[in-house]
Parts: sequence; C-alpha cells; structure tokens
Amino acid sequence: MPARKPETPLCDQFGFDVDWRRAQLALIGLQEESRDTVRQLHRCVLTDDASQRIVNGFYEQLLHDSRAKSLLESYDIDRLKLTQVAYLTDFGVDFRDAGYFETRARVGIAHARVGLPLALYLSAFGVMQTLILEMLTECVSDMAEHQLLSRLVLKLTTLDIAVATEVYHRSSVLELDRSVKHLRLEQSLLRTQLQQDALTGVSSRTSLLDALEAAISRSTKTGQPLCIIMADLDHFKAVNDRYGHMVGDKVLTEVGARIRAALREFDLVGRYGGEEFVIVLENTSRHTALQVAERIRQRIAGQPIKTGSHQLDITISQGLALRVEGDDSQSLLQRADDAMYKAKRAGRNCVAEAD
Ligand code: GH3
Ligand code: MG
Ligand code: MG
Repeated sequence: MPARKPETPLCDQFGFDVDWRRAQLALIGLQEESRDTVRQLHRCVLTDDASQRIVNGFYEQLLHDSRAKSLLESYDIDRLKLTQVAYLTDFGVDFRDAGYFETRARVGIAHARVGLPLALYLSAFGVMQTLILEMLTECVSDMAEHQLLSRLVLKLTTLDIAVATEVYHRSSVLELDRSVKHLRLEQSLLRTQLQQDALTGVSSRTSLLDALEAAISRSTKTGQPLCIIMADLDHFKAVNDRYGHMVGDKVLTEVGARIRAALREFDLVGRYGGEEFVIVLENTSRHTALQVAERIRQRIAGQPIKTGSHQLDITISQGLALRVEGDDSQSLLQRADDAMYKAKRAGRNCVAEAD
C-alpha cells in the first residue's frame, strides 16, 4: 500500500512546498549530514532535564518584558511551558519533512493570531537561542563539538525564524485580502442600495435624476428625441386608508414591476416620490412615448392587483413631456408634472401631454 501523504494544511496554504522547503534548507546550510548532529544535540544538550531548565529560564526572562507579561497574563504558564518543552524535544528532528515545517508554521500562526507583535516574537526566538547556547557551553567542553553543535543551533533557529516570519507575513496578506474582498462586497451592496429603490426595486430617485441629466445631455448632443413620463397613482391615499400601509406598499411594488414590464430593455423607470414614478425614454418620439404610456396604463388598470385576500383596481395618471431646446432636468420634470395634473383633471387613468 502506498504511504499516505501527511496532512500539512498550513504548508499547503502558505506555499511551503517541497521546492520552497529545499531552497530554504539549502540557504541556511542544513544538509542530510546535519541529522547526525541533531541526534548529538539531543543526546548531549537538549535532555529532558536541560530542556525544562531552558524553558523555565525562557519564561523568567520573557516575563520581565511588560508587553510579554500583559500578553501572557491570560494564559496558563505551566501549559505554555509544556508546549515549549515539546518544541525543544522536536527541535531539528526530521527537519527535512513537511511535518516539521507544519509544526513550526502552526506555532507561528498561533502567535500571529493572539496578536503578538512580530518584534517581540522574534526577540523571544533570540532569547531561546541564547539559552540553548548557554546550556551547550555548560554541557559540551570539547571545542570542536561545541562549534559543530552551536552552528547547528544557529541554523535551526534561523529556520524557525524564517518560517515564523513568513507565516506572519503571509497570514496578514491573506487577512488583508479577506478585508478587501469584504469591503468590495459591502461597497457593491451600498452602490446597489443607492441605485435601487428599496421598496419597489426600480431606480432610486438619485440614480433616476443622474440618468435623466445624462440622457438630456446625450439628446442635446445627438438631436435624438427624449421623452419623459411622470406617473402618479390615482387615489392612492384611499388605498392606504382602507387597507393599510402594508397593502399600499405591495401595490407600489407591483406597479413598479408592471411599469418595468411595459418598457423596453433600455428605458428607465425610477421612483420619483411616494407614489410617483418617472420613466425616461431615450431616442423616443412623442408618438412612441404616447404608445408606451398607454401600454403602462393598460398593464396597471387592465388587471386588478392581488394582495392577500384583496383584489384592488388600481389606475395611474401620466403626464408626458418631450425635451425641447434649452430644457434641463428641472424644466422637463416640471412640464411632465403639469401634464400629469392635467390627466388628473381630465378624470385620471389617462395620459396627457405637456403644452
Ligand atoms: P391623486 O389621485 O390625486 O394622486 O390622489 P392620491 O391619494 O394618490 O394623492 P395624495 O398625494 O393625496 O396621496 C398620496 C398617498 O401616497 C399618500 C401617502 O400616504 C401615499 N404614499 C406615499 N408613499 C408611500 C409609500 O411608500 N407606501 C405607502 N403605502 N403609501 C405611500
Ligand atoms: Mg402624488
Ligand atoms: Mg396619487
């Protein structure tokens, strides 16, 4: 049966693949032969008793630093010491394996997550390194052996520091990436909220007015006709008074949908006010705009609107205005509004044209 690949999610996530690991080891000068030296280090220096003493000294020194002290306050120091002893027991053992990098990366990410400043973290590595070297001096008197082992200790701590820094760096990049994605999503939601009327889903007043300005300037430039329709529900107050605002809201939403359905893809409908909609018809003659308005009128009046158990006969009055020389959005809207009142006076549920 083929050997199962060990699970190394952090190595996979941070890109510590076999090539990266090999390059890192080569740069530091950790080679196959170093494995014997690692065994020697554990036999002569990092014994259980010595590791315990190193770890005790490590926390003693760390707790002198006020930042480290306040960070460590919420932790059980005895448990941290056990973890740290385990770290020393593994120090350099099977350093070429993905599993070794995985363990180092896990330690690094745990520190990054608790918000330990990188400078403090790297200094802690330095403290640990010094304590191991001091223990080495205490245990090994032979000069050549001392030199060999201390060189190994420096290389192994360099490897740990490299992995930890990389994990810190890459996890903050990932974190930033996540924040940027989140912000983008929020931004697009806000943009939609700004552009869309929350109740009816047609364009908001703001984006309607922007679109109207743009349409006027295009029409002025190209000379193509531009028409707008001001549409206002008839006796809508009575609907609210009789059936309540919730029903009124449903009617507004359905009217918005029916207007949209009566339009062509490139026409625009927006909610101008409470129960008033404005329709912008670009490149549209007066004649065609009248047909569009009539289509809207029929779509709304032709079929009752169902809300719950009610069937409501709703009608709409519309005023049509064609852009003329010198029009801006205000003057054009004003003429459409005047025309709409003309339709009201004519008995409602009809279309009137601006003078
Ligand atoms: P007219 O035919 O002359 O236009 O009569 P009307 O009753 O439609 O006109 P009026 O301006 O007196 O009343 C408009 C009503 O529209 C009053 C207001 O309560 C209602 N309205 C405005 N916005 C909303 C809304 O968002 N939801 C609901 N349910 N009602 C709204
Ligand atoms: Mg009104
Ligand atoms: Mg009305």
